[in-house]
Amino acid sequence: MDAAEFRKRGKEMVDYVADYLEKIEKRQVFPDVEPGYLRPLIADCAPQDPESFEDVFKDIEKIIMPGVTHWHSPYFFAYFPAASSFPALLADMLCGGIGCVGFSWAASPACTELETVMLDWLGKMVNLPEEFLAGKDGQGGGVIQGSASEATLIALLAARTKTIRQVQSEKPELTKTEIMGRLVAYASDQAHSSVERAALIGAVKIKNVPSDDTFSVCGSALRKVLDEDKAAGLIPFFFCATLGTTPCCSFDKLLELGPICNKENIWMHIDAAYAGSAFICPEFRHLLNGVEFADSFNFNPHKWLLVNFDCSAMWVKKRSDLIGAFKLEPLYLQHHHQESGLVTDYRHVRLSHQFEHLVLQDERFEICAEVVLGLVCFRLKGSNELNKALLKSINDAKKIHLVPCHLREKFVLRFAVCSRTVESTHIKFAWQHISQLATDLLKTWEQNHHQQ
Ligand SMILES: *Cc1c(COP(=O)(O)O)cnc(C)c1O
Repeated sequence: MDAAEFRKRGKEMVDYVADYLEKIEKRQVFPDVEPGYLRPLIADCAPQDPESFEDVFKDIEKIIMPGVTHWHSPYFFAYFPAASSFPALLADMLCGGIGCVGFSWAASPACTELETVMLDWLGKMVNLPEEFLAGKDGQGGGVIQGSASEATLIALLAARTKTIRQVQSEKPELTKTEIMGRLVAYASDQAHSSVERAALIGAVKIKNVPSDDTFSVCGSALRKVLDEDKAAGLIPFFFCATLGTTPCCSFDKLLELGPICNKENIWMHIDAAYAGSAFICPEFRHLLNGVEFADSFNFNPHKWLLVNFDCSAMWVKKRSDLIGAFKLEPLYLQHHHQESGLVTDYRHVRLSHQFEHLVLQDERFEICAEVVLGLVCFRLKGSNELNKALLKSINDAKKIHLVPCHLREKFVLRFAVCSRTVESTHIKFAWQHISQLATDLLKTWEQNHHQQ
């Protein structure tokens, strides 16, 4: 492909993508294919002679689209939102065009400098304490990671290095391996699985701190496990607090946990992968109160801030903790006073409350966790089997798409407001659909029940 053809095909691709997104509502949100569907549709090995671009292009609708789950459909209510927007798509194109690898300042100065300044902007937008910003000569600052999972891992490894060095300076007779064997990390029993995985990769113990009735970790719960573990000779070194847990969007109590971590010399990392974008809104910023006690904080603009995957923003109070742990080149810094004019879209919150109200008006259903942002956890009053059957009938009908979670012993349906284009009418449609399927299900369910 030469530049002339790239111009032509590029314009066609832009049209294809614009058509796809404009008409995405008409596509079935979840595909009909079975596992292994794709292999028989394409050749066993790469062709010796190239196909024309037209033929390759045709395969998108023929082979790929039938196996795509349409995350940007307004009928997609599963997992969590995946951000995408036209400006972000254009930026990705530019990024591909420049195609540089910014591993050091000199490898491409604009990469490092833009990243540092943008993360100061973003940090100011969520009103992070000054200590987390790079500014002209600050000790903190932000860095982009691929995912929240990576950010947690980086924070845990930095904390591990810091603690090992501290313990060795106090007790030089201990080897690194002996210290590692006594380190313990902590996170809520509601934390994302990536926290446990970070500890596995970091080769340290991790313990669940039990959450309370609202699925939040409070200070006394952490205090209890810390006291037990310290008495047993272990070294607590890392606590990952979650703001906006994945199962039900609960919030750990930072204002209680932070002072404990500071006093005990425990690195507090805050995983706000989904919820973090909401803190830009003054009415949600209070959920981040207590961040001043944290060592590191992370959220995903690729979830709820219209930036395409992958873009996970991480801030630390002391850049030297990361740089020292991984021997990275120091970031080169520049202060920027201009405030961002980025407009974010928090209709998701209004729409989730709309859905919540619809659920609450139907006596057959219950809400299972407080609705704070764009996630509603709900279920039919009744057995887990009944709710599994309801979820199956919803997902089999393929009009909308949902995934479940467990909250304690309950099987719960998660309704996450995801698409940028989702409107009140889609919410109403989704609820009418769920409610009708519930009516049908309950009819047959009761009949079967009587027969038994
Ligand atoms: C989505 C989510 C994650 C995982 O995010 P990745 O960027 O995919 O690693 C971790 N923690 C929480 C609280 C999340 O909501």
